[in-house]
Amino acid sequence: MKPFAYTRAASAVEAVQAASRPGVAILAGGTELLNWMRIGVSEPRAVVDIGRLPLEEIRLEGDVVHIGPLATLNDVAAHELVRDRFPVLRQAIHKSASAQLRNLATIGGNPLQSTRCPYFRSESPTPCNKRQPGSGCAARHGITDNHAIFGWTDDCVAVQPSDPATALVALDSTIVTAAQNGGRRLAVRDLHALPAEDSTVHHVLRPGEIIVDIEISGVARDSAYVKVRERESYEYALVAAAVALGLDGDLITRARIAVGSVAMKPWRLEATERSLVGMRSGSPEMGEFVKAAFAEARPLPGSKYKIPLAQNAVLRAIEEAARS
Ligand code: SF4
Repeated sequence: MKPFAYTRAASAVEAVQAASRPGVAILAGGTELLNWMRIGVSEPRAVVDIGRLPLEEIRLEGDVVHIGPLATLNDVAAHELVRDRFPVLRQAIHKSASAQLRNLATIGGNPLQSTRCPYFRSESPTPCNKRQPGSGCAARHGITDNHAIFGWTDDCVAVQPSDPATALVALDSTIVTAAQNGGRRLAVRDLHALPAEDSTVHHVLRPGEIIVDIEISGVARDSAYVKVRERESYEYALVAAAVALGLDGDLITRARIAVGSVAMKPWRLEATERSLVGMRSGSPEMGEFVKAAFAEARPLPGSKYKIPLAQNAVLRAIEEAARS
């Protein structure tokens, strides 16, 4: 690990100012950044620790649940507001990492995590536009087993691996940021960058821009998260599906579906969402609507298996959401 300067921010304003300088990284739970620094993927000259800022409260205001970005994943999953209103988020968190990691990792940091593309995390020099812009993409004609089926370009074929981000997208969540220009509100579904927008970054937050709030409106009791992985105990997703339904008896009145680990952002199936409205849960035609959503998938040689796997994960998540 290369030497770096360490400072602890006393306020969000101080953190924003310090982290706006080139080569400065923000440290929250530390489960992501320190890992990348250890293997040389990230080499900041300075680290600003925001871990002790008072940004961990979870509260209800009107019909909106506000989640402080520094709340740990386990604290979010255990909170009664999340337990009662958003089972999909609770389930996604429980499946996102080991219990020890969930005690440190934060709900604001997890969705910003980097791809697990093996070339990106290689400890020897490898062409990777996300590591070194303009160097190329070793994965494009390399090992593509856990790469994209949607939204990729020749410049990057990686996927975003965050389970909580996929659930937050299905819940139509919003993040609020602080930045030198005053910050902004951003739908979580717009947080990540597809390679066509910028293949060199993972998300659209600018240097020095930090998340200060996560907002989720309403209630999504009929929701569920299905994660398919190589080992059940602890692993990143091959595919995942987050589903939030509105139900009147067994009649679907509203549907939100986000699929994880198939693109550089959680992938919403909007046409399927519209098709499900007015159907009864368990209708046999549902399978056809879900299948149709993957007609535009462009699998790589190694990622073809993800299409049927994701279709089945979505159907199972719909089923589980409808009976929750
Ligand atoms: Fe890098 Fe993306 Fe290519 Fe992986 S897929 S090597 S992260 S550019």
